[in-house]
Amino acid sequence: APFPQDRTAIVTGAASPRGIGRATAHRLARQGWAVAVVDLDREASEKVALEIQEQHGADALGVGADISDRASVDAAVAEIAASLPQVVGLVNNAGISSPVPFLEVSDEEWRRVIDVNLNGTFHITQAAVKIMAEHRVGRVVNISSASAERGGGVYGRAAYSSSKAALLGMSRTLARELGQYGITANSVAPGSIDTDIMGGRLSDERKEFLLQELPVGRIGTVDDVANVIEFLLREESGYLTGVTYDVNGGSHIA
Ligand code: NAD
Repeated sequence: APFPQDRTAIVTGAASPRGIGRATAHRLARQGWAVAVVDLDREASEKVALEIQEQHGADALGVGADISDRASVDAAVAEIAASLPQVVGLVNNAGISSPVPFLEVSDEEWRRVIDVNLNGTFHITQAAVKIMAEHRVGRVVNISSASAERGGGVYGRAAYSSSKAALLGMSRTLARELGQYGITANSVAPGSIDTDIMGGRLSDERKEFLLQELPVGRIGTVDDVANVIEFLLREESGYLTGVTYDVNGGSHIA
């Protein structure tokens, strides 16, 4: 089906002040989307929703939800469906990193990361694509990582890399199964992006080191990633599905 005039994109993990999700939510609002900002802290989500309404005159709602919790996700998606226009887009951006090497990773740490990055994405995707399938139109974008393709590294080790690699498989399966409902599903795999996810572990020294081999010669910005996500959510991107977009300044050839 064609896109409805008024349509909503859900962006998870969009309350982080310097994060990829917030930049994406703003960009989508500028392109005419109503936006549902979903993050752990309701107040922080509401703050971003308000700034979107004020800056772009767009419809926006801030919701508090822990994506690893099915009940919390179902309540959030029900609230979004009741308050905003038809859900057409879903950006699975919420995620946590984990610096623990494979030989040291505990069961608890492993589960903590898989519960959010993989199970959380599963929960909210299932809730959102039911709505999309009903209306025969939808766009899903999963935020994976260069770490999924390269086997960890700067952004996270075993649990993180595994969870992000699983999202590549999920995107392709969704693409295969849901194409018949007018839904596309793709992945975006960012390289080194300057945000707070590493909790300050990306030191200036480390940045210098990374830049030495990087073809574009700079660390990525949240807008570099938001740009590609917004592109994949467009109506005219409907022939792109099951694809992974590397947004890494060329690190994959370095
Ligand atoms: P960030 O830490 O700034 O933002 C992540 C957001 O997700 C936070 O607001 C956090 O509260 C939210 N979140 C965490 N657990 C949640 C849960 N259980 N339920 C709901 N929300 C939850 O991180 P970022 O750098 O903007 O990263 C965004 C995405 O991009 C992540 O999935 C990350 O793995 C991925 N990524 C980032 C980089 C990078 O270099 N920054 C590289 C590759 C991939």
